[in-house]
Amino acid sequence: MSAGDFTAWGRLGWPPAAAVRALAGRRAPLPDVAGTLLPYGNGRSYGDSCLNPGGTLLALRGLDRFIAFDADTGILACEAGTLLADILDLAVPRGWFLPVTPGTRHVTVGGAIANDVHGKNHHAAGAFGAHVLSFELLRSDGSRRRCSPLENADWFAATVGGLGLTGVVTQAELQLKRIAGNAVAVRNTRFTGLDEFFALNAEAEKTHEYAVAWIDCLAKTPRGVLMGGDHADTDAPEPRGEKRVPLTPPLSLINNASLRAFNAAYYGKPWPTAQTVHYRPYFYPLDAIGCWNRIYGPRGFYQYQSVVPPAAARAATAEMLAAIAASGQGSFLAVLKNFGDQPSPGLLSFPMAGTTLALDFPNRGAPTLKLFERLDAIVRAAGGRLYPAKDARMSAAMFRAGYPRLAEFTPYVDPKFSSGFWRRVMEN
Ligand SMILES: Cc1cc2nc3c(=O)[nH]c(=O)nc-3n(C[C@H](O)[C@H](O)[C@H](O)COP(=O)(O)OP(=O)(O)OC[C@H]3O[C@@H](n4cnc5c(N)ncnc54)[C@H](O)[C@@H]3O)c2cc1C
Repeated sequence: MSAGDFTAWGRLGWPPAAAVRALAGRRAPLPDVAGTLLPYGNGRSYGDSCLNPGGTLLALRGLDRFIAFDADTGILACEAGTLLADILDLAVPRGWFLPVTPGTRHVTVGGAIANDVHGKNHHAAGAFGAHVLSFELLRSDGSRRRCSPLENADWFAATVGGLGLTGVVTQAELQLKRIAGNAVAVRNTRFTGLDEFFALNAEAEKTHEYAVAWIDCLAKTPRGVLMGGDHADTDAPEPRGEKRVPLTPPLSLINNASLRAFNAAYYGKPWPTAQTVHYRPYFYPLDAIGCWNRIYGPRGFYQYQSVVPPAAARAATAEMLAAIAASGQGSFLAVLKNFGDQPSPGLLSFPMAGTTLALDFPNRGAPTLKLFERLDAIVRAAGGRLYPAKDARMSAAMFRAGYPRLAEFTPYVDPKFSSGFWRRVMEN
């Protein structure tokens, strides 16, 4: 693979890294390189937080060994390049599941720690880092530290959500959660208007372990479907194999007309009120179509994910959705969810109590960036923040406003490490 193959999910055409190196094993030293270094997991971050244009990327997918698994306690030790998909393949047949999982299983453990990823159960379980028992951190000075909430706790807090900037996580120990079958019992409820969403969602959070809503971002009155879920004590048949978008079309397949038609059909499809499904279609619907990011064409796409605190959530979400609908931009991938008030373990963790809205936008250049400026103003006025894992354009001012613990974090950054994102938000 060439350096150009190490890209980010949004495919926005960033300049490649000058070089890509691998780690020769979890006990191997870091390669001696000129310039800066950045760990690279599986490139499922949307923007330049996983890229190091002009510097070196340290490819970590090769560190993919399981080290130990205790099927009685659910404690798993593995190398940091292990995919969540591989953990599920090992753990689910033995009655264990990931304590927190993002919307794709093609993510490494190191990447999940570095972005302190969240799932549909944030209201019940907090973020990924809350279930990390320990990890080893390798720094460019050759030092290795075991970090946990009790041991080197300051390094633990800096590295969870630390965007790969504090050093390389070589291996980690995770606490998995018990399940009694591979199926999830899902309850689907359509809603119209944000008041109905917030009322239904408050109920769903009391009764379901998982809750997330798809939202039609172009409808005049916001509408969507709330999907509550719980692990069931049954097994469901394995879903059929993955389909794949074979190549990048010359133009984005997502435009105003196709989006309106898709959203109307998706909202109107016969949603079963209750169904029991294999865990994959519930947690990872997008993984069923490999390389789906190609549908946005050669110019790529942005994701915009914000969180705003509870007091401002209703008004700010309404204002953002109105701005998006008026702009005629957006996509069918629009997600609305509440985060709970469990404090995230990382100094730069994205999740905080409030409502998170995540939408994909085809890259139309200036009009798209102009819309983001409008959304930024709403998020900032509401006391919210944007998610670096999804970001490709936030300003330094927006980052500083959203992450008040930035000054506590910066002393832990490895002097040899940097990313495109970091240079953008720190140096301009
Ligand atoms: C379809 C889809 C759905 C998603 N849904 C969600 C979601 O629901 N919730 C959510 O939170 N996120 C979600 N994401 C984002 C994704 O979970 C994160 O971007 C994740 O961090 C990607 O992990 P990765 O292994 O691909 O790492 P990369 O994207 O390659 O890297 C991510 C960061 O981790 C650092 N890193 C990687 N490995 C290591 C290591 N071993 N040591 C130190 N640092 C390291 C990198 O430097 C970088 O800063 C989604 C992404 C996609 C494509």
